[in-house]
Amino acid sequence: MQNAETLYQLLLTAYGRPRWWSEDPFTVMFQAVLVQNTAWASVEKTWEAIGDKADPAYIEKLPVEELEALIRPCGFCKAKARTVQALAGWFAGYGFDRKKVQDQPAPKLRTELLAIRGIGAETADVILVYAFYKASFIIDAYTRRFLRRFGYDFADDGAIRRFFETGLPEDAKVYGWLHWLILEHCIGACRKQPQCESCPVREFCEQIIG
Ligand code: SF4
Repeated sequence: MQNAETLYQLLLTAYGRPRWWSEDPFTVMFQAVLVQNTAWASVEKTWEAIGDKADPAYIEKLPVEELEALIRPCGFCKAKARTVQALAGWFAGYGFDRKKVQDQPAPKLRTELLAIRGIGAETADVILVYAFYKASFIIDAYTRRFLRRFGYDFADDGAIRRFFETGLPEDAKVYGWLHWLILEHCIGACRKQPQCESCPVREFCEQIIG
């Protein structure tokens, strides 16, 4: 069974270095909430309509009904509008200053984010990694599926987290890229109905299906 670093290198060789890295922290926060239980295409469409209104100070003060209307295509608009405004309020506590947030320890930030209604572990870690460049490993349904099929037997998400956080350099970019690589792999080859015959890492997989 591969260790975390070897697994990362396998995926990096198979898919190449991810092309994307985040720029604006509030865009990451906002979109991390919008994408919950919806397709990315809906987020893109909504984002186009939001345009330059995606400013945290503006969004925080916007009447909630207006925000709901703006994000309606992403579904669950009442709950998501509340969460986005709470996130904007949290960011306001740091003066909307990325550096001030980054100066805080990751566990403290994670606790603060998890205290916001509508922010679960996955969303909190996405925000920590992609908005504030903090090394906090992101675990989602794709990660669990891929690892299970590849032959790992982790008791729970805590065990997955320890495996990666002790086996990889403590580097947000490595964590962010690995998350992207797993996503790429699970959208391409390791789908719900896996495409094992064309999978680029099949020779290392213990559970080729079909
Ligand atoms: S060989 Fe099949 S099950 Fe294994 S990682 Fe590739 S697509 Fe997934």
